[in-house]
Amino acid sequence: MPNLVRRRDLLCMGSAAGLAVIAAPAWAQSIDAILQPRRAVLDNLHTGETFNEVYYANGTYLPDALAEATRVMRDWRTGDEHFIDPSLFDVLHAIGGRLETRQPFKIISGYRSPRTNAMLHARSHEVAEGSQHVLGKAIDVRIEGVDLAHLHNAALDLGAGGVGYYPSSNFVHIDTGRVRQWSGS
Ligand SMILES: [Zn+2]
Repeated sequence: MPNLVRRRDLLCMGSAAGLAVIAAPAWAQSIDAILQPRRAVLDNLHTGETFNEVYYANGTYLPDALAEATRVMRDWRTGDEHFIDPSLFDVLHAIGGRLETRQPFKIISGYRSPRTNAMLHARSHEVAEGSQHVLGKAIDVRIEGVDLAHLHNAALDLGAGGVGYYPSSNFVHIDTGRVRQWSGS
C-alpha cells in the first residue's frame, strides 16, 4: 500500500508540474525557463531612479525586489505607487533576452494614477481612457543603443500582450493585456 500511495503522489506531482508548464506563456514553457532567475533593468527617465535586480528566482517572485521595482515604476507626476503586474517584468526580461542586451529599459511612462491618465487623455487622443497604465500593466520604453524597430519586433514576436509603436515619440508601449497591436506617433 505505501508503494501505491507513493506512486499516486508522484503521479499527482507529475500532472501538477505538467499543468504549470502548459499554463506558462509560450516563451517560458521549458522547466529551465521557469527556474531561471529573472532580472529587471529599469531606468526612470523622469526621476533618474534605477533598478537592476533579480526579482524572480527558483520559480518564485521576490516581494522585496518587486516592491523596489514598483517604486521605480510609480507615477512620477503624483508620486502614487501601484501594484505592477509581475508578468510585465517577465515580458521585459524576455525581450532583453531576445535582443541580447542588459541595457536598461528607459521608462517614459510606467504606472499612471487615474488623475494623471485623465489629464493626459484630455490632452491627447492617443492616451486611452481605460489605459493599461492605470492598472499597473503597461510601460512605455526605449533602450539606448537598440533600434526602436528591433525593440518593437521583439515585443511583437513575444505575443505576450499589447504592443504600441510610437516612432516619432521614440518609444514602444508594452502591456500584459490581451494580445493586440497598433501604431501611434
Ligand atoms: Zn503606453
